[in-house]
Amino acid sequence: MMRPLNSFLILALAVCGHAEDLVPGNSVFGQRHFIEYIPGELPLVITAPHGGRLTPEEIPNRTNGVTDIDANTQELARTIAAVVHAETGRHIHLVVCRLHRSKLDANRDRAEAAQGNASAEQAWQEHHAFIETACDAAVRQFGVAFLIDLHGHGHADPRVELGYLHNALDLADCDEALNESTYVNASSLRWIVERSDLSHVELLRGPLSLGALLEARGFPATPSPRMPVPTEPFFRGGYTIARHCKADKNITGLQIEANRPRLRDTAENRLRFANALVSTLREYFPAHLGINLSGEPKSKDCQRVEASLVPAQ
Ligand SMILES: [Zn+2]
Repeated sequence: MMRPLNSFLILALAVCGHAEDLVPGNSVFGQRHFIEYIPGELPLVITAPHGGRLTPEEIPNRTNGVTDIDANTQELARTIAAVVHAETGRHIHLVVCRLHRSKLDANRDRAEAAQGNASAEQAWQEHHAFIETACDAAVRQFGVAFLIDLHGHGHADPRVELGYLHNALDLADCDEALNESTYVNASSLRWIVERSDLSHVELLRGPLSLGALLEARGFPATPSPRMPVPTEPFFRGGYTIARHCKADKNITGLQIEANRPRLRDTAENRLRFANALVSTLREYFPAHLGINLSGEPKSKDCQRVEASLVPAQ
C-alpha cells in the first residue's frame, strides 16, 4: 500500500513520536517517493541508504564523495524483512533511500550528502526523521531499538564487516584498552556494555559476538574470534550509526557491510544470508538485549539453558 507523507507530518512524527497513523507493513513515503519507510512492530530497525536506483533529473549529480551504488542492498534489506515476517508474522522497521547515491548519500552529513540541492536535502532530512520515528517507536514498545545500517563493500576479502564505530587501528589495541571508557563511550554497543555481564571486547569479538554467531552460520565476519582485528581496508561504521546509536536514547546497533560474492550477488544468496542473519539475531537478542527478536522478555527457559552451559567449578 502506498501513501505519501508530507514533510510536516514526517517531522511531526519524528519530533512528537506520535505514530498512530502508521500501520506495520504499510509503506509511507517522503516527497516524490525518494525515501520509503515501512513501519514495524519489532525492536529491529534496518536502514538501506546506498541501494537506491532513482536518478531524477531535478537533482544534479553529486560532484564529490563516493557515488557508486551498494548493489542489491535494498533487495537484501527487503529480503531480511520478509524472512522475519515469515518466521514471526510481524514486521521490522525498514527505511530505504530509493535515490541513487549519485543524487544523495544518506550516510553522510547533510553538506556532503546533498551538496546544496534543496530536494536532496529534504530527502536526507526525511530519511533520518523516519529512522528517528522507527527507533522511537521501538524504544517506546520494547525499551530498546537495535539499528542495523546495511551496506555492501567491494573489498578483496569476502567477509562481512561489522562497524561498531571502531576502525581497524582501534581494534588492534589491547583488550584492556578497548574495555576502557574512551572506547566504550565511542562504541555503538555502549547501551549493551552498560547492561551486560560481558566486557566490551567480548561483545566485539568474543564467542557470543555478532561476528562469532555469523561465522557459525557460514558467513566469514570481522571483528570475530577468527579475525579479531580486521585487515585493511575496513569500514568502521558511518554517519547514520554515529548519529542514531545513542545509549542515552536506548538505541544500539551497528553498520553491516556485506561482501558481494556468495552473499548479495543473487536472490538465492541474499535469502541464504538473510536466513543466517535472522537466525543470528534470534540468538543475539536474548543474549545481549534481554528480549527475543519478537520483543518478548527473555524466557526463564532460556535462562535455564544458559545456566546449564556454565561449566561446573
Ligand atoms: Zn554503503
